[in-house]
Amino acid sequence: DEFGGWVELREPEVEVDEPTGPRPVVAVVGRPNVGKSTLVNRIIGRRQAVVEDIPGVTRDRVPYDAQWNGREFTVVDTGGWEPDAKDRAAAIAAQAETAVVTADVVLFVVDAMVGSTDVDEAAVKMLRRSAKPVILVANKADNTTIEMEATSLWSLGLGEPFTVSALHGRGSGDLLDAIMAALPEAPKIVENRPRGPRRVALVGRPNVGKSSLLNRFSGEDRAVVDSVAGTTVDPVDSLVEIGGETWQLVDTAGLRKRVGRASGTEYYASLRTASAIEAAEVAVVLLDSSEVISEQDQRVLTMVVEAGRALVIAFNKWDLVDADRRYYLDKEIDRELRRIPWAIRLNLSAQTGRAVDKLAPALRKALASWETRIPTAQLNQWLTALVQATPHPVRGGRAPRILFATQAGVAPPRFVLFTTGPLDAGYQRFVERKLREEFGFEGSPIDISVRPRK
Ligand code: GDP
Ligand code: GDP
Repeated sequence: DEFGGWVELREPEVEVDEPTGPRPVVAVVGRPNVGKSTLVNRIIGRRQAVVEDIPGVTRDRVPYDAQWNGREFTVVDTGGWEPDAKDRAAAIAAQAETAVVTADVVLFVVDAMVGSTDVDEAAVKMLRRSAKPVILVANKADNTTIEMEATSLWSLGLGEPFTVSALHGRGSGDLLDAIMAALPEAPKIVENRPRGPRRVALVGRPNVGKSSLLNRFSGEDRAVVDSVAGTTVDPVDSLVEIGGETWQLVDTAGLRKRVGRASGTEYYASLRTASAIEAAEVAVVLLDSSEVISEQDQRVLTMVVEAGRALVIAFNKWDLVDADRRYYLDKEIDRELRRIPWAIRLNLSAQTGRAVDKLAPALRKALASWETRIPTAQLNQWLTALVQATPHPVRGGRAPRILFATQAGVAPPRFVLFTTGPLDAGYQRFVERKLREEFGFEGSPIDISVRPRK
């Protein structure tokens, strides 16, 4: 199996772990007035007055129960502060050490409006000595300007700062996701609903064999499955079995009904193609291997790439390809598909059934790439080595530096490079090529944007 080793995407249909042992503990530490209590309130989802606005009021360490995405945990507000402590750094250290002893995860809160102070830096020293995971929270990031400025907090050496506004709720979902990811395996109380079938668009210019391929999966006589328990499927879609799995082929009504297929201009055909791609997670673009790769084929491929969908290219009618055609086709592929070397390519025949069984593994692989998330630490480890080995070329005596990268999203994977200035287009392509060499992403477009630091 040439796609051996792909990742199983589905979670088990029902996952109910028996609660075992105590809930994991999340400790919230930081200087006074950075907004720890406000953040705790936000996390526990209550407007209960934990916040004491009277400066210097000593709060006891109070644990609260919280839950997020079906996981229960305990959050401890370490607001207890010795206001008259002579040595603030020592007080911070004591607080941090207590938190570290009791916590599974430490939230270290700093004030994004203020930036890092030397008291913060003293606390970081304590925290870093511990083996506990620390999440850096840049609170009071009430707007995008403060959010951008907060990237300077990478200098604390605790990794990516999570910008939040505890007061307004901004960013708290992402922070909770990060906390969940950092928690040890813990009681899981909510069932994972199975997600519906993966959505696939079968697209390509007329006569490449879309209906023939659809028929191969649904069978001429066998009625297309009409419903799957717990999912609603648009009547214009088809549910089919491919490779032992149910897939939702979107917008196939026009392919099922042979009548009227010839009608409609190319304009409408292209609108339908665009809407099918939009509705899908992964697109299978069919090409007719017996014919030259045309501009119309290119347009369909471009639509998929621009929509950011995973991509499998099916060279259909492979039964018609002889040695002669193969020679020219290889040259066409080199020339015409140069911009999408990452697309998964299959040589198949809807008519004979050749290699049709390769489609499901190809779809799974493309979708796995599409949903890949690279941990920030791993990404930056790789990037540091890359820019050390091959720095940005010097232009006019200066070379922009890449400070760090984060993955901003999945489906498709999107990356942001934080730099000291704009990058050469060539260097950016180099980074993308190397990123693919390292992490794969076969079958998925990826997006890299550059954010020069002001
Ligand atoms: P702690 O004592 O360090 O736990 O901080 P508090 O939670 O008591 O908050 C200190 C002050 O900062 C209070 O006046 C809060 O209303 C304010 N505050 C907390 N979070 C935010 C925020 O996200 N944005 C802004 N603008 N103010 C905040
Ligand atoms: P569509 O317009 O993309 O839906 O294409 P059709 O499925 O209607 O196929 C167009 C023509 O190509 C029909 O005559 C099919 O029989 C033929 N065809 C489809 N797949 C293959 C194939 O794998 N090999 C060969 N030789 N012909 C095919």
